[in-house]
Amino acid sequence: TTHFDAVPLAPPDVIFHLTASYKADTHAQKVNVGVGAYRDDNGHPWVLPVVRKAEQLIVNNHALDHEYLPIEGLASFTSAAARLILGKDSPALNQNRAIAVQTISGTGAVRLGADFLARFRGTQTKVLLSNPTWANHKAIFNDAGFKDVADYTYYHPATRGLDLEGMLRDLRAAPEGSIVVLHACAHNPTGVDPTPAQWNTIADVMIAKKHFAFFDCAYQGFASGDLDRDATAVRYFATRTELFVAQSFAKNFGLYNERTGALTVVTKSPETAQAVKSQLAKLSRAAISNPPAFGARIVSTVLNDAALYAEWVDNLKTMSGRIQLMRTKLFDALQKLGTPGSWQHILDQIGMFTFTGLNAAQSQAMGTKFHIYMTNNGRISMAGLTSSNVEYFAQSLDWIVR
Ligand code: PLP
Repeated sequence: TTHFDAVPLAPPDVIFHLTASYKADTHAQKVNVGVGAYRDDNGHPWVLPVVRKAEQLIVNNHALDHEYLPIEGLASFTSAAARLILGKDSPALNQNRAIAVQTISGTGAVRLGADFLARFRGTQTKVLLSNPTWANHKAIFNDAGFKDVADYTYYHPATRGLDLEGMLRDLRAAPEGSIVVLHACAHNPTGVDPTPAQWNTIADVMIAKKHFAFFDCAYQGFASGDLDRDATAVRYFATRTELFVAQSFAKNFGLYNERTGALTVVTKSPETAQAVKSQLAKLSRAAISNPPAFGARIVSTVLNDAALYAEWVDNLKTMSGRIQLMRTKLFDALQKLGTPGSWQHILDQIGMFTFTGLNAAQSQAMGTKFHIYMTNNGRISMAGLTSSNVEYFAQSLDWIVR
């Protein structure tokens, strides 16, 4: 016997497993549309030019060292992160009612927020996640100890759009004071976001039911290419209610492995803000002690310099623009092939992903027959498509749905 007799083998993570299968595949036309990571038109990872510049500035700055950061992170980073999501003229920031702490990317921000709520709201509190959602949401809230993690209606398969009525019905039916996880923009996996008017209605119901809004913002700047537009929902809620927003800089800065993120919190008073911040720091201390510096320095360098900021906005447009172009190219290719069904949703959905409508068997067949790696829910990362593989992808899809 060993100390580990009770330990069964855990199943592999779906996304990371897909990437491993893709890498092991030797087929010349293989395509990876599984992972949500940006690729350039040659299918290569892209280090943003503005990030390269910031890296050089940091490396050449001999005043910097490798001392520990404060528990709550690099102050010039967290303040800029909060400004980025809440806006230049944010009343909450100007009234010192908002704070931010640095986290291990977006995942760490969601986890820190979940740990905080488990401690101060209790693990009996109902947690509502959109159906469908990023698979890790469920794992994070379960692991944080919540006993009642459920879904709210979100996606409407027939229209491939938002089921607003269903969503409001479920929000109304939940116990008062539930925690509701909302995707700030570029909903993963569906690419379907509420309109501003729909957000207002969602806020009405949330506030009437005293629900807590926990925004997950992994794609600011990626949805529309406009950082302010992508923050609309969060900023609107912040005018009416307290909230959490988990921010990731993995996608919009291409800093995937630097684990750069923040948990920004809007409260009703400066005193509450400081109390919440102190407790978040206490939780962080026990979990990670203090966060890593390099990614935070990069983001801080860019966000706090007007010229670099403008360059970043331009780099973001390059990414969102290429993704938009792939939407058009895929749509056009399917039209040309006369592929059965309506594919308008490829153009309508936004952000990194398209929710194709392929079922599990069809999604799997894309892999076994055509070496195209995608998740079984029919989601494809548009960033995995390029000028040279989009035709092949369209032909394969066409074959699969006929
Ligand atoms: N939340 C959503 C909805 C995501 O899609 C992702 C990344 O795929 C994340 C959070 C967290 O990403 P990271 O931890 O790499 O910042």
